[in-house]
Amino acid sequence: MNDSLTIAVSKGRIYKDALPLLAHAGIVPKDADPEASRKLILETNLPTIKIVIIRTADVPTFVEYGAADLGIAGKDVLMEYGGEGLYEPLDLEIARCRLMVAGFPSTSSDGCRLRVATKYVTSTRRYYAAQGKQVEIIKLYGSMELAPIVGLADVIVDLVDTGNTLKANGLLPLETIADISSRLIVNKASMKMKHRQVKTLVERMAEAVESARL
Ligand code: AMP
Repeated sequence: MNDSLTIAVSKGRIYKDALPLLAHAGIVPKDADPEASRKLILETNLPTIKIVIIRTADVPTFVEYGAADLGIAGKDVLMEYGGEGLYEPLDLEIARCRLMVAGFPSTSSDGCRLRVATKYVTSTRRYYAAQGKQVEIIKLYGSMELAPIVGLADVIVDLVDTGNTLKANGLLPLETIADISSRLIVNKASMKMKHRQVKTLVERMAEAVESARL
């Protein structure tokens, strides 16, 4: 195995928030704006480290299969992905939000099975199962807020940050399922075979998180 490390990151909020932490750890992408450049592989100032830009839900897959040694993924994505195929050594404390049930203020299922629209099918099923509730889950890929408005579902399960998106659509946060932030994840084989490089990077990122807290 070679000495180089590949880090998988999704573009958007997580990438933007991860940049200062990576910089603190001494890693600066040469092309800092993947939105503008459309590049999927970013070289960095360190010849041994590159960043691959992928969809957030694909980050655990790339890391589990070793296509990337490390990744940065939201806890929401990791909860949904499940599995024992990854190490999750560090909470990066970025892209914080909550996974919540949301709906109209007077939401009720009128005695019928509650219908829940979400892209977080696994986390939602687990949440209601833990309460002994059977619900009907409707898988959506976006614009979840629309579902209660058009009568597709009674409630939604989605990420909530400021709550503005819910409010703009007349919905309220009702229950918190989990506090979410982004985590550093590591491929199990890379942790063994590239131990020194991975350990150094994890330690530097931990220092970066610590100093961002101050
Ligand atoms: P807000 O209006 O601030 O509550 O943000 C809600 C919208 O932003 C929803 O569409 C969420 O899916 C999305 N969102 C909020 N926080 C995050 C996050 N940390 N990562 C990804 N998407 C998020």
